[in-house]
Amino acid sequence: MITKQKGTYDISGDDAKKREYVNEIIRGICEKYNYNYIETPVFEASELFHRSVGETSDVVKKETYDFLDRGERNLTLRPEGTAGVARWFIENKLYGNMTEPVKVFYNEKMYRYERPQSGRNREFTQFGVEFIGSDDVMADVDVISLAYQTYSLLGLDTVIKINSLGDTESRDNYRKALVDYLAPHIDELCEDCKERLNKNPLRVLDCKIDGDSDIIASAPKTTQYLNQESLDRYNKLKDYLDLLEIPYEEDDRLVRGLDYYNHIVFEIYADIPNVGHLALGGGGRYNGLIKKLDGPDMPAVGFAMGYDRTMLAIEEAGNNIPIKKDIDAYVMYVSDSEKETAAFITQNLRLNGFTTETDYLNKGLKGEFKSADRFNAKYLVILNDEDLAKNEVNVKDNVTKEEEKVNINDLIDYLDMHD
Ligand code: AMP
Repeated sequence: MITKQKGTYDISGDDAKKREYVNEIIRGICEKYNYNYIETPVFEASELFHRSVGETSDVVKKETYDFLDRGERNLTLRPEGTAGVARWFIENKLYGNMTEPVKVFYNEKMYRYERPQSGRNREFTQFGVEFIGSDDVMADVDVISLAYQTYSLLGLDTVIKINSLGDTESRDNYRKALVDYLAPHIDELCEDCKERLNKNPLRVLDCKIDGDSDIIASAPKTTQYLNQESLDRYNKLKDYLDLLEIPYEEDDRLVRGLDYYNHIVFEIYADIPNVGHLALGGGGRYNGLIKKLDGPDMPAVGFAMGYDRTMLAIEEAGNNIPIKKDIDAYVMYVSDSEKETAAFITQNLRLNGFTTETDYLNKGLKGEFKSADRFNAKYLVILNDEDLAKNEVNVKDNVTKEEEKVNINDLIDYLDMHD
């Protein structure tokens, strides 16, 4: 038997319906905030992720699905959504003649070679938004507000942890201070962090091994190294969040796992019974990324949320996602001679907005009644030759058990009226 691969899963039945519901919420909110849907390819040139996400990031060092295709191209299954969107923006020269910022959202499968565990898989879905072309704090707030409201609509109480890495000067100053501080402790760091210290010291702060050590607890804080402009910007952001009543906590150790962030970084957490304090998503400003990928100097900010953890959080919080299980009508026929009319009426009901089923297995009336109950059909539309000769069908309300003969031409109006 061929089974699914480690870290992948099928989504079906009620789980699929719940995801559809989450998709609808996401689509609705993106429409209100005026983000347009985008799909980018599942695989891209490996170089795209190496240059954007960063050679020293855990994602690129250990987690990407890299492969050579039959044409000997170095390709990677996308591990995140921002790089693909940045590539699309640059490739299509959307920066020429830009009259409005580019605001897009994606909702796609991502691939990381991780150790599978609850809420962490090798193939997983992320919803994310990218806001390209504004350096204004209001754009940061747009993205954070959208993220926060999405969780609220899903019934989750979340807290947004925020931090600022500052502009290039602040980030460089901080980086230097951190290296000076960590260098004497190098022997106490894990193997990965020893390497990170030279290539990307900020990463040491969110190392899964060293992150909780005393050394890191006493390390210099990003916010101590913000220059006045970066500090003003950070304060402005907090003013906006206060104004819009978006709850946040400052966390000066938050740096985020990917290389390309500056200024604001944030992560969204929920306290989930039986699971704990869970990061559901995160994002930040990435002003340098588009230039790094050979595009123009272009400010941008974005956010991504993982579906797996969000679904887990919704389940554990005991939130009921409304999923539609019942159907509106079940069309029944007594014998073969009524089948064509059954097919016609079934289609007609569907085209008029009723979720409708019929019998594809020639079960006969008894079996059809059972099926209608299984589907929890609200109405039974029962066809027999005698009624059809008078252009009528028998409509039974499966709740009140009331039955009535209805002219076929009036069937839709009849069901609409009783709905
Ligand atoms: P990142 O792209 O690493 O910033 O992650 C953003 C969000 O995506 C996280 O907060 C998780 O909810 C989700 N996520 C990241 N990696 C995985 C994974 N391997 N499996 C499931 N969800 C993930």
